[in-house]
Amino acid sequence: MKHGAAGVCSGHVGLEPGFELRLMMARIIHWFRRDLRINDNSSLYSACQQASEVMPVYIVSKWKGTHPWTGANRQEFLCGCLESLARNLEQIGGRLIVRSGSPVEELVRLAHETRAEAIYLSENYSPYDRAIEKQLRDAANAKGIQVRAFRDTVILAPSEVLNHKGEAFRVFTPYAKAWQQHTKPPLTPKVGRLATPSDVQSDPLPTLAHWDMRSEAQILPAGEKAGRDRLKQFLRSAIYGYASQRSNLSASGTSRLSQDLRFGTISPREILAACEKLVGECSAAQRRGIHTFINELVWREFYFQILWHFPHVLDRDFRPEFSGLQWDLDPAKLQRWGEGLTGFPIVDAGMRELNATGYMHNRVRMIVAMFLTKDLHLDWRQGEKYFMRKLVDGDIPANNGGWQWSAGTGADAAPYFRIQNPWTQTADYDPDGEYIKRWVPELRDVDPTRFTRPPEEKLAPGYPLPMVDHARERQVALERFRSATKFSQRDELKRPAGREKV
Ligand SMILES: Cc1cc2nc3c(=O)[nH]c(=O)nc-3n(C[C@H](O)[C@H](O)[C@H](O)COP(=O)(O)OP(=O)(O)OC[C@H]3O[C@@H](n4cnc5c(N)ncnc54)[C@H](O)[C@@H]3O)c2cc1C
Repeated sequence: MKHGAAGVCSGHVGLEPGFELRLMMARIIHWFRRDLRINDNSSLYSACQQASEVMPVYIVSKWKGTHPWTGANRQEFLCGCLESLARNLEQIGGRLIVRSGSPVEELVRLAHETRAEAIYLSENYSPYDRAIEKQLRDAANAKGIQVRAFRDTVILAPSEVLNHKGEAFRVFTPYAKAWQQHTKPPLTPKVGRLATPSDVQSDPLPTLAHWDMRSEAQILPAGEKAGRDRLKQFLRSAIYGYASQRSNLSASGTSRLSQDLRFGTISPREILAACEKLVGECSAAQRRGIHTFINELVWREFYFQILWHFPHVLDRDFRPEFSGLQWDLDPAKLQRWGEGLTGFPIVDAGMRELNATGYMHNRVRMIVAMFLTKDLHLDWRQGEKYFMRKLVDGDIPANNGGWQWSAGTGADAAPYFRIQNPWTQTADYDPDGEYIKRWVPELRDVDPTRFTRPPEEKLAPGYPLPMVDHARERQVALERFRSATKFSQRDELKRPAGREKV
């Protein structure tokens, strides 16, 4: 076996014939990151095929109290996923080894301590993860330990779906067409048996106390079984009406799988395979629901590839012509938005849903993000960060993509001049006020038609008047965008509508 190889296996082990025989080793470490499952996990499966003993490891971060990019909700869900993973590994004869600290140091130390010959992992795509993977390869290879990366986070890797010039797509529709045409990797068999050496020391499974955090919200149950149950539930009926019901705020019209995809308790390949199986068994109308849903999985991969090919989006606008845009700095406004006290019922309902559950419906994510950027003129990066701290499904590619889409600065974003009106959005997507009343109890007894236009007086005692006039702020936003881009109203009329989600 050649040490120092650092290839990426394409999602399953069947691609390299004879691979298993060539690589039979005594011990391999599988490093769990965002692939917290034993089903359809090609990295874990390959480790089990190629070594007599496998050490499944999770490295817990060591920061305390606050972190700019995460918060208690996502960490709590992670703890639940790890608990479930540990149980699942025990059932197949293995053991989850937990260590805390710097991943590179801990993994190399563990490999040295246990005489592991290789470290297997699922490839990740953010600049931070890529840097860690490179550091790990350098440090491990220097000690003769092999590092192999597999593709388990996405169905097709960012480097696979390229245009005819071999370049990255910047627009969704051609990307999606190319994505559809690619052959998809098959599912990997479930790991049936795993032997972990009994003498390897493990820290206890983390709880929120590890980061000096306390529970903040009522989050969904975590783990592989919980994710699979959500998928089964969605496939039983809601998927068929997904095309028409996904934006209906009073229906449970979406899958609620985002946190499972975020932590990999279910694989995107498995979701796709389950959808494709249904396609053959249903009517044309039902197929529309399934195809619309699959399209959202493709949006997920579109944003992964945007971050991979254009990592500048992490700090800057995807489209440089917006870099001179004027944003306000107003902590008091940001705070009212965050607490759900803007006086716009739909915005407040969304922010309160987020604060109470660590989740927000996609339609409302767009509404609150447009409101922050176009009505309050606050920088999308502030909203992006707030979401990352609160969302259980907080995922840098989709979150950055969603924020830049709403701000109008991103790849295939909403054109900046198509500004959502929170009042008419309410009439379209929550006409009976059911969603608003669920999350803003002060408004329980208010006639819902009053949520669809600016009120002349308070809607209820203790509930604020709208903090801004939408019509006026819309004009301010347009002027700022026009002056930054030098676009005129006439240019705007010539532009195509973009993704019709506005
Ligand atoms: C401002 C903003 C921020 C967002 N931040 C995140 C985030 O941090 N993490 C995240 O997973 N999604 C994010 N989204 C996308 C979307 O809102 C969520 O994926 C969706 O609401 C999750 O609910 P669901 O699982 O029921 O979705 P479903 O409608 O059932 O969709 C199925 C899956 O497709 C993917 N998906 C759906 N819509 C999108 C989209 N627009 N972009 C990328 N992937 C999508 C998700 O993985 C989702 O679980 C954001 C959207 C906006 C507008």
